[in-house]
Amino acid sequence: MKINAFHLQVLKGEKCPYCRSGTKVIPATIFYDTVVGVDFVVACRNYPQCNAYTHAYPNSTKPQGRLVDKATMRKRTMAYKQFNRLVILKQLMTKKEALAELSEHLEIPLEYSEICYLNAKNCMRAETWAIKKFWHFEYKRTGKFTVPMTVRNGKRRKITIIEQVDSYNSVVEFEEDEKRMMIEASKIFFFKPRT
Ligand SMILES: [Zn+2]
Repeated sequence: MKINAFHLQVLKGEKCPYCRSGTKVIPATIFYDTVVGVDFVVACRNYPQCNAYTHAYPNSTKPQGRLVDKATMRKRTMAYKQFNRLVILKQLMTKKEALAELSEHLEIPLEYSEICYLNAKNCMRAETWAIKKFWHFEYKRTGKFTVPMTVRNGKRRKITIIEQVDSYNSVVEFEEDEKRMMIEASKIFFFKPRT
């Protein structure tokens, strides 16, 4: 991946990836209606006409990675949730190890493999990667190795369970084409491969 000067400014949160403008700092108390544990938000200079933003690092106005729209921010939050479960909550890998693998998996340079640098598509790929990685360690720990699957177009397909929405529905991602969809949880079965 070649990174040009503009792209670099985007990754550092200095330029808006959507309208190519500069940025402005907005106190989080003004940006959000509720308290969110963030001091400052770095938004596109054209905010709110352009709705790109990112959070600043604690006690600073330095942007955390690239500016994104609300939909991408949701994906970023989901990816962080899974990544943090792996490296902070369960400490199954060090952050360094995780980023090295993630960089290889996403085929992006190591220094830009942190989730705050990723676009929407790669946030989703990072989320799936972290979920699979977590279950990989779980299988190792418990010795129970099963693969979640479902039937699609009459064929058994490998899936990753992204989220259990309620008792009846789950969001899953198909391994074959990385498509996500909501399916009935009763349609998921667990296959035990011969090892
Ligand atoms: Zn913008």
